[in-house]
Amino acid sequence: MDSRDLTTDLQQQLTELQAFHTRVAILQEVATAINRKLTLDEILPEMGRRIKWLMDFDHCSIYLIMPSFFTTLFGPPVEKTAFDYDVGLNRIDWVLQTKQPYRTLASGNGEPASQFSSHMVIPLESENVILGTINFASQKTNAFDADDLRLSNLLSMSLSASIRNAQRYEEVKHLYTQLEQTESLREDMIRMLMHDLRNPLSIIQGNLDLIGLTLDDHTTYETNRRRIADGTDAVSYTIQMIDDLLDVHRLDSGILIPKLDIVDILDLFKEKEQLYAIKAEHANITFNTTVLPNVFPIQADRRLLSRVIDNLINNACKYTRPGGKVELLAAPYDSELHISVRDTGQGIPVEYQAKIFDKFFQVIDAKGAPLRKGTGLGLAFCRLAVEAHGGKIWVTSKPNQGSNFIFTVPVKN
Ligand code: ADP
Repeated sequence: MDSRDLTTDLQQQLTELQAFHTRVAILQEVATAINRKLTLDEILPEMGRRIKWLMDFDHCSIYLIMPSFFTTLFGPPVEKTAFDYDVGLNRIDWVLQTKQPYRTLASGNGEPASQFSSHMVIPLESENVILGTINFASQKTNAFDADDLRLSNLLSMSLSASIRNAQRYEEVKHLYTQLEQTESLREDMIRMLMHDLRNPLSIIQGNLDLIGLTLDDHTTYETNRRRIADGTDAVSYTIQMIDDLLDVHRLDSGILIPKLDIVDILDLFKEKEQLYAIKAEHANITFNTTVLPNVFPIQADRRLLSRVIDNLINNACKYTRPGGKVELLAAPYDSELHISVRDTGQGIPVEYQAKIFDKFFQVIDAKGAPLRKGTGLGLAFCRLAVEAHGGKIWVTSKPNQGSNFIFTVPVKN
């Protein structure tokens, strides 16, 4: 090489170095811009706006593992399959497994024909955890050189840090919401302990005092029997309330997992018929149960299923005036069983129909006072128990005409 060749060679290297230097400066600008953003919803569009300043390509996308998604940042939207190498082989998956960047080489590394002629996939990694990949593609052959790869690696470091920060931000936000919910649950529980538990306990205490005081006088056997019955009712109510509270907590936090067993619906409905026929008669309410033909035995936690039905029937009786009707029905529906409790009671205004399944929610009357006839936990328990079985629960209702609570139990294969 003579000295003229050497000078030309050096000049060319200098020009390339200056060009690379300019691109690194642009990269710094891009990195600063995305680092200022806090959430993925802000980071990714910002990246999409600026990424084209860095190099020449026709497509840029991001693949993230958590939350799992593939999104195009630049160019017409494509699917992750645009990075397929062969059947069952995808360049993005290869990068995730090997933690190595992928780049189509000048030799073509045996590139099969695809939507694009060149691909470059860079892992996004922070603190040794693979977060996903940033992907480039071009219609041109041999579109990405070694400088593009170096620059993309630098970009990936900065982008990974921003994504990790965004994920941490989401985690903290989620924890904060949970903390707020726990706090409001605590307040609700204190309110319940003050109002709802105190009441039945005072009834029990009052009746026991009266029985004690009148043991030696002429109080009739009937009067004391009524006092004992009132006290027993109050005890059942308190136990039911505590059971609801405990089960809601256990189901909500995943501690209580349904113990699945074969449940014979006919048998369960017969039990309910016996239990509620007399109670309903006392309240002058007609109660009946119907099991449609072809109702199959289901797999469910009998105790939980039975308590869901109890809650719905008790509510139906509670909110139905004397002379009304309550019906328990089971019907097969595709691969599900539908169980419903229908009443002819006061009904539920449309605006409350979704909310009544929330913890402690109670419908309020026209004056804004809660129609307090319970704890507001029964339907929350029903929803959690039904969902733990993989089913759904909802209500259809018209004020003053009645309500129909329906829940589904999927049939397990
Ligand atoms: P509660 O213990 O207060 O009855 P639930 O969670 O069982 O709590 O029910 C929440 C609210 O939904 C009740 O306060 C009541 O207003 C309404 N509700 C539930 N079932 C019925 C029904 N069958 N008819 C009318 N209103 C109902």
